[in-house]
Amino acid sequence: GDIADGIVRRAEALGDGVHEALFEPVVRLGVTGLSRAGKTVFITSLVANLLDRGRMAQFMPQAEGRILTAFLQPQPDDTVPRFDYEAHLAAMTGPEPRWPESTRAVSELRLSLRVRPGGLLSGLRSPRTVHLDIVDYPGEWLLDLELLDRDYATWSRETLARITSRDMAAEFLAAADRAEAAAGFDEAVAKELAAAFTGYLRAAREAGFSDCTPGRFLLPGEMEGSPALTFAPLPGPDGTPPRKSLWREMERRFEAYKARVVKPFFRDHFARIDRQVVLIDVLGAINAGPAALEDLRRAMADTLAAFRPGRNAFLSRLLLGRRVEKILFAATKADHLHHSQHPRLTAITEALMREARDRAAFAGAETAAMSIAALRATTEESREHEGRKLDLVRGTLLDTGASAAFYPGRLPDDPMRLIAPAREGAERWLDADYRVMRFAPSGAEGRPGEGPPHIRLDRAADFLIGDRL
Ligand code: GDP
Repeated sequence: GDIADGIVRRAEALGDGVHEALFEPVVRLGVTGLSRAGKTVFITSLVANLLDRGRMAQFMPQAEGRILTAFLQPQPDDTVPRFDYEAHLAAMTGPEPRWPESTRAVSELRLSLRVRPGGLLSGLRSPRTVHLDIVDYPGEWLLDLELLDRDYATWSRETLARITSRDMAAEFLAAADRAEAAAGFDEAVAKELAAAFTGYLRAAREAGFSDCTPGRFLLPGEMEGSPALTFAPLPGPDGTPPRKSLWREMERRFEAYKARVVKPFFRDHFARIDRQVVLIDVLGAINAGPAALEDLRRAMADTLAAFRPGRNAFLSRLLLGRRVEKILFAATKADHLHHSQHPRLTAITEALMREARDRAAFAGAETAAMSIAALRATTEESREHEGRKLDLVRGTLLDTGASAAFYPGRLPDDPMRLIAPAREGAERWLDADYRVMRFAPSGAEGRPGEGPPHIRLDRAADFLIGDRL
């Protein structure tokens, strides 16, 4: 923040090398989004393109020739898994390019940049090192924040009420009804209930519901099978449940989940983020239809509530007035559309994020929306078709390896034609070719000094960190 900047500036003014090393500025960039939004691909390509900057013309510190070198360093947090950059890059740019494994838990990577300061007196100041710590975490985990405001009884009651009319919850609800909350605790019963509840959460997510908490049930990482993830909501018992009952142990585990899983994530990762990019698969949701799009809109508003301080007592205490300074909302996979459609995609993203943006704006963060492709898998071409010019994209199909050109349709010029949840017969867009456009990543055919091909990754980087270099 400003104080750290001030210290750095003073240290540099002293011209004291020791001070400089001690006060090398660190920018923590959070990368999040729901599953399959494109986090892994984004980080891999961003890092590759910051190391080899031949395709980063719109990244101002690069355009100004101020970046001397960039290099990877051991990340400073000893207990956080390192983002597996090398494996992901090899997958995407190897001889048989494929998409990398997706994000399943939090991971981190440190990239350090040696930069010449900009501005009037830049010639007088020596180069300095800025560390960029990239923190990758599932957007689903942000939804857990609301659990902190609830005790087990309240959470159980609310959850059961919410899902009671959902078909895919029938099996779990029957099991929960059968369970005797006041009976003695039995691990086998707890496991069965947790498994049934997890099964429900998976099905609900598949059906497009976004209120699928606890988030770790879907993405357990290394906590899989631990007691803190082996509980489920239960109908409240009559009277006070005895000690060592199923209810009491479920209650204890729910509290353990909050204390040992949710709080550490917010404390160790979320609270330390300076800049945030939220990746959103807007095209996928448009293709899936109006209900999915509306669900995405709600999910983004819910997850991003975490960026509004004062909403949650625990988080307010943790942040102590600290805040994320900039948030970028990026519609990913824009390479599925000809660039003539990108402004419409951006407008739709802006409209989708209005509620979430207002909340962030309330917290004083600067926000922007962009359409990007972290890894561009297509090229563009135009063709005459029945007297009309069609804008196509061409790519290599993942399944067959064949090259094929598609016309994915067009997006409406007025975003509200898409984002009008209450409207009768909301229209469908992009439902023709989009579904079959499963492209393989294009291998790295770049020249030396160039990272993987992308769309607007340089602009995204400039918004996120350009001002800190
Ligand atoms: P994560 O779950 O957020 O980590 O998502 P991933 O980064 O693993 O991306 C999920 C999938 O989206 C990938 O396997 C690709 O199929 C697709 N994808 C992500 N980024 C791009 C992109 O820039 N262009 C294209 N064409 N597909 C992408």
